[in-house]
Amino acid sequence: MTGSTTACPVCGSDRFETLFPDYQGRCVTSQMFFIDGLGLENRCCTDCGFLYNAAGTRGLGAAVYNTEVWKPKPQIMNYSKGVKTSHQKAWETFLSLADLPESGAVLDVGGGTGAFLECVHRDRPGWELHAIEPGGGFAELCGRVPLASAHNAAYDTLDLDRTFDCVVSLSVLEHLENPLHALRWMHARLRPGGLLLLQLPDFDKLPGDLVCADHINKMTVPYTRMLARYAGFEETGADTGMVMFYLVLRKGEPAGGPVPSRFADNLAIARRAESVARATIEAVRAAVDAAESRGGRAAVFGTSPIGSMAHLLLGCRDRVACFVDENKNAWGRDIDGLPVVGPERMAELGVTDLALGISPVYWETVAGKMRPLGVTVHVPQPDQPEA
Ligand SMILES: [Zn+2]
Repeated sequence: MTGSTTACPVCGSDRFETLFPDYQGRCVTSQMFFIDGLGLENRCCTDCGFLYNAAGTRGLGAAVYNTEVWKPKPQIMNYSKGVKTSHQKAWETFLSLADLPESGAVLDVGGGTGAFLECVHRDRPGWELHAIEPGGGFAELCGRVPLASAHNAAYDTLDLDRTFDCVVSLSVLEHLENPLHALRWMHARLRPGGLLLLQLPDFDKLPGDLVCADHINKMTVPYTRMLARYAGFEETGADTGMVMFYLVLRKGEPAGGPVPSRFADNLAIARRAESVARATIEAVRAAVDAAESRGGRAAVFGTSPIGSMAHLLLGCRDRVACFVDENKNAWGRDIDGLPVVGPERMAELGVTDLALGISPVYWETVAGKMRPLGVTVHVPQPDQPEA
């Protein structure tokens, strides 16, 4: 099921730096489902700097979004309480960055279940809504908002012979074969001066995405800005302070010549991410070894891709008792057949050693909360400073 490619999907170069990990087998997706027989072959293109997994779900096409990958998230990977939905947050961010008119036609490329268009429809009822969604969310999308047109197909199979005032793409480019192709396609679907609203997970803040099988492109702020400019967009607004970054891009003229390089920026980001990812895996190894030596049991804190892949990368599933999470929505679920429990259940399960499989942002706070529960907390120790 491996969709290995030899050339950089963006610039076509076959020269690259290899990134952690080099792995074939059972892989986790961004929706926390496991798929067998995928590869993690992460690379940084030496010529343009593009960060990509040459395998993963690459080459599997839109069909993969009708299977395990695109189902509603079983766990809400969020530590804050009472927060807005990600779609509401994205919409409010775009409203703060752009002066959006009261009417117009908007196309949502990868509209999911329609959660974002619902926000648009509520605050801009005069907008005409159009959506493309190749995955299983399509039926819900169609029932959720009044759509002037809807397409249950991959964007690159559609021949839309019209333009829009606004195109929206939320957390889509990281899944597609070639983000430059997608940006050019969206550029062609905009009227002159039309706006593209782009949201992407910032790989610089999500090093665990190195092991996320369906985030085949690791999008960074400097690289995405370069790519948008090259595809013919002028940036008119940006918010790059969060785990997701947001760009408001106005249709302009495409640049000529070869794809400009962001190799130095992207390789530095990738090396930091590798350092955190490796350290996280090593923390799980340390917890498993320590638990075994004292006759206890090991657990992994968190339900993110990196923590969920550690036992597979280490081949130690039998030696992990459970996953631990403070998010009650995750309790009673399982990760690769291992139970997810709340911290207070660690004692009854005999957990003596807990590895942190979460973003570095939370390491200190979570370690401080877990130590009083009588476990040794194994905090990852990266050999490179964080961003
Ligand atoms: Zn390249």
